[in-house]
Amino acid sequence: MANQDFLNEINKRRTFAIISHPDAGKTTITEKLLLLGQLIQTAGSVKGRKGDKHATSDWMTMEQQRGISITSSVMQFPYKDRIVNLLDTPGHEDFSEDTYRTLTAVDSVLMVIDGAKGVEDRTIKLMDVCRLRDTPILTFINKMDRDIRDPIELLDEVEDVLKIRAAPITWPIGMSHFFKGVYNLYTDTIHVFIRGRGHTLTDDIQIKGLDSDEAREHLGDLYDDFVDEIDLVKGASHEFDLDEYLAGRITPVFFGTALSNFGIREMLDGFVQWAPAPMGRGTLTRHVESREEAFSGFIFKIQANMDPKHRDRVAFMRICSGSYRKGMKMRHNRLGKDVKVTDAVSFTAGDRDSVDEAWSGDIIGLHNHGTIQIGDTFTEGEDLKFTGIPHFAPELYRRVRLTDPLKMKALQKGLQQLSEEGSTQLFMPQRNNELIVGAVGQLQFEVVSYRLKDEYKVECIYEAVNVNTARWVECDDPKKFEEFKRKCYDYLAVDGGGHLTYLAPTRVNLMMAEEKWPDVRFRATREH
Ligand code: GDP
Repeated sequence: MANQDFLNEINKRRTFAIISHPDAGKTTITEKLLLLGQLIQTAGSVKGRKGDKHATSDWMTMEQQRGISITSSVMQFPYKDRIVNLLDTPGHEDFSEDTYRTLTAVDSVLMVIDGAKGVEDRTIKLMDVCRLRDTPILTFINKMDRDIRDPIELLDEVEDVLKIRAAPITWPIGMSHFFKGVYNLYTDTIHVFIRGRGHTLTDDIQIKGLDSDEAREHLGDLYDDFVDEIDLVKGASHEFDLDEYLAGRITPVFFGTALSNFGIREMLDGFVQWAPAPMGRGTLTRHVESREEAFSGFIFKIQANMDPKHRDRVAFMRICSGSYRKGMKMRHNRLGKDVKVTDAVSFTAGDRDSVDEAWSGDIIGLHNHGTIQIGDTFTEGEDLKFTGIPHFAPELYRRVRLTDPLKMKALQKGLQQLSEEGSTQLFMPQRNNELIVGAVGQLQFEVVSYRLKDEYKVECIYEAVNVNTARWVECDDPKKFEEFKRKCYDYLAVDGGGHLTYLAPTRVNLMMAEEKWPDVRFRATREH
């Protein structure tokens, strides 16, 4: 392929994720984006598909029963002259690790805020993660069809709490029953809201000029107050600045209602215009530019059971440079092995298709038979290791006990494989042959026992275990490390990836160990 065509393919890509507090409207917005991307014809079909015609695994039934989204998937659609990759993230906070890692695979995010509630906890946490990489953020304030809080106050809250400057692009005209549309501050255009058109693609009805007869007529009694409000907003708010947005210091803000499919189009138009094309990534040795021709990518997620007929696992790869061609040879760097990849898949609204070509910025899925781990780097031969894909020490620990002791092998294999997916972690203490599972939230334990039963045919129960926290340990001085390992034998365990960990029964115990062994590093996060 000619060089310019290659660059065009990469420059077209826009890869992002949506961050929000549960219930702010992420799923609804996703659906409306897929409508605009013409991946679906009517809203509602994404959820419907999960249940019936599209075969998904049994533990997704659990997900449905609980009304949460456990797994994240990838959706690709063309919009205008761009190719948009939307990475879905699990909404429930027990799965936040997965979300954090997904955020390492995107170039920008869309932050959704419930206009009635304002900035909520989980959004604050996720913003902190975005800030680690100065990820550009676009904001959508949702639910304008309801009684929301004063928009000016909402923007103040975004600025105060999230520590980012807010630059409104559109401004809402009224709210709740009196919601009449949004006004674009930069194009001096009103986009007219028409009720009851949430399920299909609707025309964009515009009124040019706030100072027009049509505008006066459309706004009616609201007109004079709205004109004053716009004066105030223009005077008091920040002006949009592309460089500041790309640096993660200013967020353009759009208003609308996802349920009624309004305001999303304006937001998406802004997104494809401003959001960054694929950006480079750091490795242990050098910075890799997205426009380099040699292929490279890293694994940020492993997911099981997308298709229960196959029971395989898919490793999600973010392509960081170059392109994937079906049948190409890749070097799996951690193993130092070359593999020929003929069956990578791409994702479209939950469906998997075989992919022939994919470019920097895209996400592809590799079939994983147990050799691929989160954080693994693949290249066309160069010895690289992408950095910045975190692994957090779990917060909750349980000992796993079998109801049928003869199934030990199956249990070990199951726990090992589930820990490779990255949502739980397995620890095997040195002093006994217990199996300890660590998780960020309670729900993960339930998912693990459900899947052990469903996929590995083992039933287990959880018991309390005297572990408060875990730290990955390292030391540059081999002699000191040996001594440490001898003296602390009772506290040491090996995790699912073979790394030595210190399982501290209490915080005080950990503090004392850290004091006693100053040469040993006790790490709360581990990079894959
Ligand atoms: P998620 O948890 O962030 O994925 O949120 P959902 O998209 O599932 O939305 C949560 C609830 O808010 C659902 O009942 C939606 O129907 C509702 N919702 C989403 N967007 C709007 C909106 O613009 N207006 C109103 N009134 N409700 C909305």
